Amino acid sequence: MWVICAKLFTFWYYINMKKRLLSGIQPSGTIHIGNYFGAIKQFVDLQDTYESFIFIADLHAITTIQNKDILSKNILNVAMDYLACGLDPKKVCLFKQSDIPEVAELAWYFNCITTMPYLERATAYKDANMKAKEVNVGLFDYPILMAADILIHDADVVPVGSDQKQHVEYARDTAIKFNNAFGQTFKLPEVLILKEVAIVPGIDGRKMSKSYGNTIPLFGTDDQIRKTVMSIVTDSKKPSEPKDPETCNIFAIHKLFLKNEDLENLRKRYTNGGLGYKESKDMLYEEIVSFIKPMREKREYYEKNIEEVKKILNSGGERARNNIQNKMKIIRDNVGVNI
Ligand code: ATP
Ligand code: MG
Repeated sequence: MWVICAKLFTFWYYINMKKRLLSGIQPSGTIHIGNYFGAIKQFVDLQDTYESFIFIADLHAITTIQNKDILSKNILNVAMDYLACGLDPKKVCLFKQSDIPEVAELAWYFNCITTMPYLERATAYKDANMKAKEVNVGLFDYPILMAADILIHDADVVPVGSDQKQHVEYARDTAIKFNNAFGQTFKLPEVLILKEVAIVPGIDGRKMSKSYGNTIPLFGTDDQIRKTVMSIVTDSKKPSEPKDPETCNIFAIHKLFLKNEDLENLRKRYTNGGLGYKESKDMLYEEIVSFIKPMREKREYYEKNIEEVKKILNSGGERARNNIQNKMKIIRDNVGVNI
């Protein structure tokens, strides 16, 4: 009888145990609508379904931000953005990456089983290498630090925009390499990407990115939002001419804010002709401003209560660090540095 009860309990526990979700955003600039639709919205939507760990990737940001005032300001800004967007610190463990120094230790173990040509194939590195004169070692090693972020928490799913898909694959590869070298230690995480928001385009049509300077800020002032919306690059068709919505950078962003009938009506106005790009931009500006209004109000609350934000981050950091101690012991045992 007891054995049956124990088995039933184990079964019940297993099916009720929430899977673990982990993701983060770099405090490398101002959060934009691509970050919101590509990542943060998923974090908020999934916070009841998963045991969620959401962090601010401050160690990653040092690859591009090397100014302490800017970095610390950006960290608090991302924390306020997360909270204003609806992340609930009672449900989600919200923390700074640097509060878990063990990720840097784990990244080192991973570095020792990773080859240079493998990292040279990373698209983010290839992009950066084309632009920068000399890529720093931190940026080159970005996928390995990200693998450590994910694997140290035994994450089951990692919701990201599609630009990060390859990095999650690197985390899976790295888990397999480590397991082969040191014995079974890590589970393989799954990437979670929503097709319709996989890549939100920026005002120049490239992927919207903090580092490309082509963003529409999520929490910009009305003026900033208007200015960036008005700078969305279009072709030179006159208002009367029919236009292809699928190749229009403005329409691509309308798609995030308009649903069903409203979107179809706008699509028709594009194809019929008679809608100028200026009018389409004015409409988009109104859509964005009314969409963010409630989040803005929440953010204003946190701006006035910054100590509360710091407290949330500190207690999240403590919880996240406690949480990985057992895992680190197993990792160190398996590597052989525990004697
Ligand atoms: P940086 O230019 O510094 O790399 P970023 O704008 O690309 O910044 P990240 O902090 O690298 O932002 O990414 C945070 C999350 O937002 C990731 O999950 C990433 O996939 C997602 N994301 C970033 N930009 C977009 C975008 N344009 N469309 C969809 N998702 C995006
Ligand atoms: Mg990025």
